[in-house]
Amino acid sequence: MRKELEDREHRFLMQTYRRSEIDLVRGEGPLLFDSEGKEYLDFLSGIAVTSLGHCHPELVETASSQMAELDHVSNLFFSEPMVDLAERLSVGSIGGPVFFCNSGTEANECAIKVARKHASRRGIASPEIITFKGGFHGRSYGALSATPAMAADEALAPMLPGFVAVDFDDPEALANAFTDNTAAVMMETIQGEAGVFPFSAETLVAARDLTREAGALLVFDEVQAGVGRTGSLWSFQQGPVQPDLMTSSKALGGGFPIGACVASRETGQVLEAGDHGSTFAGGPVASRVAAKVLDLIDRPELLHRVRELGERIRSGLEGVDGVVEVRGRGLMLGVGLDDGLDGPGIRDSLLAKGLILNSPRPDTLRLLPTFVMSDRQADDGVGLIADAIGEAS
Ligand SMILES: *Cc1c(COP(=O)(O)O)cnc(C)c1O
Repeated sequence: MRKELEDREHRFLMQTYRRSEIDLVRGEGPLLFDSEGKEYLDFLSGIAVTSLGHCHPELVETASSQMAELDHVSNLFFSEPMVDLAERLSVGSIGGPVFFCNSGTEANECAIKVARKHASRRGIASPEIITFKGGFHGRSYGALSATPAMAADEALAPMLPGFVAVDFDDPEALANAFTDNTAAVMMETIQGEAGVFPFSAETLVAARDLTREAGALLVFDEVQAGVGRTGSLWSFQQGPVQPDLMTSSKALGGGFPIGACVASRETGQVLEAGDHGSTFAGGPVASRVAAKVLDLIDRPELLHRVRELGERIRSGLEGVDGVVEVRGRGLMLGVGLDDGLDGPGIRDSLLAKGLILNSPRPDTLRLLPTFVMSDRQADDGVGLIADAIGEAS
């Protein structure tokens, strides 16, 4: 069975992913089950997507009933589900209008377009967008060009011009990168794919002050850190500054594809009719599901629970031999390992023990657990991680 699936996968899919040993066939809350019936505790949430747990009954009901009532009408028509969701997103974040799309990459693509057109209105012919080394913004050519590590791949050249990368969390380097052509600074508040590295308040304030003085835009990529993951609806809400543009995806659809670029009131009119579009974007099913996700996550009790579980896991792991630090906030945690420990090896042994997480760099385990586990399950996860690190030491 397994072997046959693997063979067909190799034959019929472009080999762009290194896949795990197991195939998952069912999910329920914080648990996943493979084709042999083995149970796993999910500390990855499909990479920060299924934050409410798998197959949440209210999301299943919302998607099924909307699919049965009205599936898709295109963006040639008004759509109440879309407007409802846009209003929620706007009011709960930075107050301006929303552009919908289908992924995090596309949300950032919209932000890049807004930043460039905004710069053009200021008379800038060759706009530059400043990004940070270690950042991840997606895989289309715009988002890829904003992702320094991957943009360096010459086999994929040429990248889009107009992107400048500065050292992570270095406010001085950031200041020095500004020119008369600077259109925007684009950044995560906590670098996720890099291995969970939060920016300091100092750099966030510098990014805000420098963009404001230059007349440029500040773009926060909340694709991974947003939608409750850090214990507030948007991660920037725990920090000192607000962006001009915010992008969201991943958990926004709870497993259903959707992305959004939210503007401030001042930047919301930059894109005009014909400037941008997408066939599926903000369709009724995706919009209703995302609105339900926000209903369920944007509650003080749930956001408090995210912080509580995050602290529980953090304090459990901080005492473990072999753990040098635990980075991040809420349920977005990077566990820094001692020299000599092999993150991917520990990830594999955890999989065998029934715990799913990933290792975005050799010295780090990344935890993006669901928000719906019990204290007991959180402690079980910590125990398994401690065991696996102990065995690897
Ligand atoms: C995952 C991710 C993206 C890309 O999102 P896709 O939906 O895979 O296109 C962009 N930015 C951040 C911070 C991400 O974590």
